[in-house]
Amino acid sequence: MDWGFDNTFARELDWLAVAVDPVPVAEPRVLLLNESLAVELGLDPEWLRTPAGVAVLAGNARAEGSQPLAQAYAGHQFGQFSPLLGDGRAHLLGEVVDIHGQRRDLALKGSGRTPFSRGGDGRAALGPVLREYVMGEAMHALGVPTTRALAAVATGEQVWRDGGPRPGAVLTRVAASHLRVGTAELVRMRAGDEQQASFAAYVRRRHHPGVAEGDHLGLLSAVVEAQAELLARWMSLGFIHGVMNTDNMTLSGETIDYGPCAFLEAHDPAAVFSSIDTGGRYRFGAQPGMAQWNLARYAETLLPLLAPDPSADPELIEAATERIRAFGPAFDRAHLRQWRTRLGLDLVEGRGVEEDQVLVEDLLSLLRSERLDHTRTVRLLGRVARGETSVVTELVEDPARWSQWQDAWLAALAPALPDGVAAAGMDQVNPLHIPRNHLVEEALAAALTGDLAPVEELVRVVSDPFVERAGQERYAAPAPADFTAGYVTYCGT
Ligand code: AMP
Ligand code: MG
Repeated sequence: MDWGFDNTFARELDWLAVAVDPVPVAEPRVLLLNESLAVELGLDPEWLRTPAGVAVLAGNARAEGSQPLAQAYAGHQFGQFSPLLGDGRAHLLGEVVDIHGQRRDLALKGSGRTPFSRGGDGRAALGPVLREYVMGEAMHALGVPTTRALAAVATGEQVWRDGGPRPGAVLTRVAASHLRVGTAELVRMRAGDEQQASFAAYVRRRHHPGVAEGDHLGLLSAVVEAQAELLARWMSLGFIHGVMNTDNMTLSGETIDYGPCAFLEAHDPAAVFSSIDTGGRYRFGAQPGMAQWNLARYAETLLPLLAPDPSADPELIEAATERIRAFGPAFDRAHLRQWRTRLGLDLVEGRGVEEDQVLVEDLLSLLRSERLDHTRTVRLLGRVARGETSVVTELVEDPARWSQWQDAWLAALAPALPDGVAAAGMDQVNPLHIPRNHLVEEALAAALTGDLAPVEELVRVVSDPFVERAGQERYAAPAPADFTAGYVTYCGT
């Protein structure tokens, strides 16, 4: 099959990678195949299911035009700098231009050891692979920029995890690119002047073509804007990434590396689910600040391009700092925009944004103090807008306070209430179905026993998050409280 590979990274930035083939696996078998994504990429899903197709998705055969490589990168992990990370268990197969004209990376994850594997086995376990598949599809359906899975393939081999053998799997990941803040950090540390400039130029051309050539501060601002927009979406949906290290933050603005991530149940800025985030560095409410911290690390990589000795140039440092500071207002604007849409307020003509800010802040404060289920409560607001005014009131401990907020919101929304205009708009952006933690765990547990039906159904349901369907009620229901209280997510590496 003609994959249509056109590998600009391999051609232009070969010094940032090591050419290395995936390591073949014993007995590849397709578990999940993303047929609509395959079509979007110009690939034939039928062919991908043939032995020749599966061999490529497992890393057992090289696709025509593919130039497999492991990318090098560095990164700050939990605040500590690691000078050399890189793809220790992933292989970039190459780039294809999809049917919309967008260039996308195709990469395998769990595809065997590379020169960056350090002590690792280069593999991935079935559970985390399926989890990444489900989360990516859910985020995509929710309108969040994200890497996505094209396929999950069982390897027929075991990997050793958490003290026992587990079935192995390979994920095929599709991304706008795999360039990370950590990639830029490595470039800054290792590369010469010319390479630093060519890396920045590559990032600009590929992800931020609106920025003028050589405008490095402009590039910084473009990445800041993209991340502010991304974080606003995460926060308004109650998504916790769990491990926002700089090597897990893209320069494109896509969510990447679904490890110990989770969606909130009860709204709680202090929520942490990741087993490795013992200090709560990446707790729900800290995420925008952590993104800004990561962007400051990115800014540092651009400084040498701006002046031969940036530390001797306070004006330059100030200019870059200004761009980083701009993350705060950019996030606030994007976050308010997200919430205005969720509350239907964008449908009210001529309404002042400042007034909405108070409504949004008060709602967040209520969600927190009442420990309301984030997703369900926001979805219920659509029913409130249809006149079922007590559906949330009956869930809260302080109905008077809630009613006060609700009345103020409904008054603001009044012009858009007739004919269900506001409610219809809200139901198109406020999901019923998210990959709730208990549903994900249940589906993965079934998959481990060989039953893929629950994970297939979960992918179907979260891929269609806004439409209420008979028989899917359990996907919209919060987890039992005792489940969430004890819930811990693992990186699964
Ligand atoms: P992650 O926690 O998945 O973002 O990975 C952090 C770093 O560890 C990256 O450089 C990975 O390539 C590497 N890594 C994670 N798991 C493995 C593994 N099983 N074998 C080799 N390298 C790994
Ligand atoms: Mg990573």
